[in-house]
Amino acid sequence: MRRAEKAERIGQILDDLYPEPTPALDHTDAYTLLVAVALSAQTTDKKVNEVTPALFAEASTPEEMYELGPERIRELIREIGLAPTKARNLWTAAGQIIDAGGEVIPDWDFLESLAGVGHKTASVVMAQGFNIPAFPVDTHIYRLARRWGLSTGTTVEKVEEDLKKVFPKDTWIRRHLQIIYFGREYCPARGHDLAACPICSFAATKKQMLAEARANRGRPRAKRGPDDVVPASARRRS
Ligand code: SF4
Repeated sequence: MRRAEKAERIGQILDDLYPEPTPALDHTDAYTLLVAVALSAQTTDKKVNEVTPALFAEASTPEEMYELGPERIRELIREIGLAPTKARNLWTAAGQIIDAGGEVIPDWDFLESLAGVGHKTASVVMAQGFNIPAFPVDTHIYRLARRWGLSTGTTVEKVEEDLKKVFPKDTWIRRHLQIIYFGREYCPARGHDLAACPICSFAATKKQMLAEARANRGRPRAKRGPDDVVPASARRRS
């Protein structure tokens, strides 16, 4: 099956499963979205949503965040992984936004210049904060794009480029969310049967299926849960 046909069929399945996917991180505007996404690195969305109400009650604008200072931000987000680094980045980024006029604007160079903000975080803000087509590639998307034969890329950049080619631009924002939700709901890290899956059953190559079966031999079946991590060699600043 050609990549484009595969993508179309996958798109139909995802639209059936998740007709109107909505962002999982609670936010009220582009700035609070930026903060929530920055906090979500190596942390669950659920944990971020537990922590942000108290943070946003004290600081929901760049000015208020800057006023709080890194130590108070750190206290408020202490339950989140990498809190010291994230607190320092949020405070520094707030200062950068104030210096640039006080608003989060839909500009790639501006967003990616902020402390702790890489291409993936900027892409989420563009897509979900400004409705500008972007295709953020996270762990689930990287892994599934390769499993489904939509990309053979070994870097996040290449996988993003391939996905943007096979999915129409007006679907990028929802495909990103749909693939994340599919990965979280259906894909165990290992130890499962590709032939029984609604997508891998037709999308995975025979080579992948054999490799998976070989890798799983002797392993206990995994519960549905978090996906494998993107290999370090494929990562870039999120
Ligand atoms: S076979 Fe497994 S990894 Fe592939 S899409 Fe289905 S559940 Fe996910």
